[in-house]
Amino acid sequence: MTTRKPVNPDLARLDRVVADARRAREEREQGYRAQALKLYPWICGRCAREFDQGNVQELTVHHKDHNHDYNPPDGSNWELLCVYCHDNEHQRYLEQPGTPTGSADRAPSATHTPFADLAALLKRDD
Ligand SMILES: [Zn+2]
Ligand SMILES: [Zn+2]
Repeated sequence: MTTRKPVNPDLARLDRVVADARRAREEREQGYRAQALKLYPWICGRCAREFDQGNVQELTVHHKDHNHDYNPPDGSNWELLCVYCHDNEHQRYLEQPGTPTGSADRAPSATHTPFADLAALLKRDD
């Protein structure tokens, strides 16, 4: 019997798959960013701050429907925002969870406590 664990080839392959996916996403982001910067004037859509080659890295491409996979070539889902306004935009989005469709009151549920058992288990060691 050996105590040494062999390198898991599946894990190595998974690492490569993840790296490939990340690279593909970065390439795609570069793609739509370049397109958006070509399509629109370099001005923040919220605070109207103007940008040039020197600070254009602070100008971000926002997806109006918050779906980064929806990139119509006419740019209808893009909006150029400075990093500050972009942050704001996403915070506002997060502060409005869901749509008010008249669903039941969402009272904080205290019936499900997934860590209760764990706490009990940990206590046993005392
Ligand atoms: Zn701005
Ligand atoms: Zn955004």
